[in-house]
Amino acid sequence: MLVYSHTDCLLKDNGFNHPERKERLDSILESIKQIKDIKISFKEAPLADMDSISLVHPKKHIEKIFSNIPKSGLIGVEKEPYADTMLCPKSKKAILRSCGAGIAAADDLMNSNKRIFCAIRPPGHHAETTKAMGFCFINNIAVTARYLQKKYKIKKVAIIDFDVHHGNGTQEIFYNDETVAYGSSHEFPLFPGTGSEEETGVGNIFNAPIKSGIKGKEFLKVFEQKVLNPIDKFKPEVVLISAGFDAHTRDPLASINLESKDFYEITKKIVDLANVHSEGRIISFLEGGYDLLALSESIKEHFLALKI
Ligand SMILES: [Zn+2]
Repeated sequence: MLVYSHTDCLLKDNGFNHPERKERLDSILESIKQIKDIKISFKEAPLADMDSISLVHPKKHIEKIFSNIPKSGLIGVEKEPYADTMLCPKSKKAILRSCGAGIAAADDLMNSNKRIFCAIRPPGHHAETTKAMGFCFINNIAVTARYLQKKYKIKKVAIIDFDVHHGNGTQEIFYNDETVAYGSSHEFPLFPGTGSEEETGVGNIFNAPIKSGIKGKEFLKVFEQKVLNPIDKFKPEVVLISAGFDAHTRDPLASINLESKDFYEITKKIVDLANVHSEGRIISFLEGGYDLLALSESIKEHFLALKI
């Protein structure tokens, strides 16, 4: 296993009492370091370059975000009622490292590292082509998908998203693109409000809305039927995972009742699919997950299933 991260990702501050805080990443990294029976190497995430970012987001849009970065204090980039996507003085490097992790991971993936995890923040799956929202600015996983297609001529990429929130940004970016399949399980209704089964793109979008209160066994059944089965038919050459751990029963932002060990089962099913179609090639990206104990337990389960 290879892990990309960077201390710059710890420096992004969202203000007092904000759920997307640096301790999330501290917990994850601490927990990964405790895993003894998997050989894990760590690499520092580089800063993403604008050419790669602009495979997804117009340069002007990104420059506008960066031009809003304050010299001190915090500035929100959204309007009410979700005015909690914040920029702080140290945001730029954290945003660029988070995206750069995926780009560097793509190069490693194509040079025979089959399993890579990007331990990053800010997350990315809510970021649309020209809209920062839901704690996200650049859609890290979408840039990586486009980069793989452009540099390595990968024809079919699957993005599997088990964060408890729907990845509206990833869906929007690939909505008319039959070369990228997007499958998402998410609590519904819940922020951001998208992700109904009727949203199917050009037959490449597979949404599995899930009612609050569901536990692991039932969750897995829906995940398999509505997300994995269609992606199995799509036969991706590379699998990317939006790994959010906020469907955990302890998570404060949602009401799905997964236990830590359920993330082993979810991940194992994705690994089986990647082994059949994608030469086992997987890059997983940290998205959400806001309870520190849930994060530290769940990431271990995720890694145990990802190991080769
Ligand atoms: Zn989430």
